[in-house]
Amino acid sequence: ATPTALMVGTGRGAQLGILIKGPEVLESTRRVDTVVLDKTGTVTTGVMTVQKVVAAEGEDADEVLRLAGALEHASEHPIARAIATAAGDELPMVEDFTNLEGLGVQGVVDGYAVLVGRPRLLAEWSQHLSPELEAEMTAAQAEGSTPVAVGWDGRARGLVVVADAVKDTSGEAIRRLRDLGLTPVLLTGDNEAAARRVADEVGIETVIADVLPADKVAEVQRLQAEGRVVAMVGDGVNDAAALAQADLGLAMGTGTDVAIEASDLTLVSGDLRVAADAIRLARRTLATIK
Ligand code: ADP
Ligand code: MG
Repeated sequence: ATPTALMVGTGRGAQLGILIKGPEVLESTRRVDTVVLDKTGTVTTGVMTVQKVVAAEGEDADEVLRLAGALEHASEHPIARAIATAAGDELPMVEDFTNLEGLGVQGVVDGYAVLVGRPRLLAEWSQHLSPELEAEMTAAQAEGSTPVAVGWDGRARGLVVVADAVKDTSGEAIRRLRDLGLTPVLLTGDNEAAARRVADEVGIETVIADVLPADKVAEVQRLQAEGRVVAMVGDGVNDAAALAQADLGLAMGTGTDVAIEASDLTLVSGDLRVAADAIRLARRTLATIK
């Protein structure tokens, strides 16, 4: 490869809003056939809002939101921001806070051990949802929302339902990736039903859901073991290892520094359509060289 043509490629990239770590990066896009996309913050806006707070029988919804908000105040997760914002400013103090990466948060509030996170996380701690809460959970998931369970003192007390929207450029972005002959795959820690709903909306057939942050990298490796050459697009701390593992890592410029550092390319504006531009540019640049 002639360095000059590659340098032209990186210069054109900057004009398109793509930051390229080094000219050699363009080489790895040549054989990419699969694009793995993180859901939250990549295909969706990542700006979540609380849609509904449901209390278990005999519990108070305001109290559910207040204790959940107190804990989430200490977390940077998009879900946490939504819940803390909805809970307002006058929140109780939290002791012994622990972030359970990809699962939820825990800590002591008002003398109670409080757990907020995936319903399955609470179930593992023997805090099972009542049949009414279970029904609310299923309904929320079917709508593409994310139900967050809240429990304290050994019992599930309620659900906070959060949701974000698909970016209006995502459908077009997926179409462009397909036009380049690439197979899109949606990869997320979120529940299967919510993931499927987003996938249907933007035209992705393959969904890998309920994946723990530590397992995202294993999913990329599994696709590579099938002989695929994988580009991964992500924005979160939980995507960093997978971005580094992928044959080509693309970070959203609107995402975390950790994701940007782990990637080969950064899409400055966070517009997913630029992912297709990046791959097309790389192919064209390499075609010039040949
Ligand atoms: P994604 O892959 O969509 O970026 P994560 O791996 O960060 O999602 O989280 C996966 C799931 O874990 C979330 O959908 C949520 O159910 C739960 N979760 C993670 N962090 C939190 C938190 N701070 N509060 C509540 N739930 C959380
Ligand atoms: Mg994300």
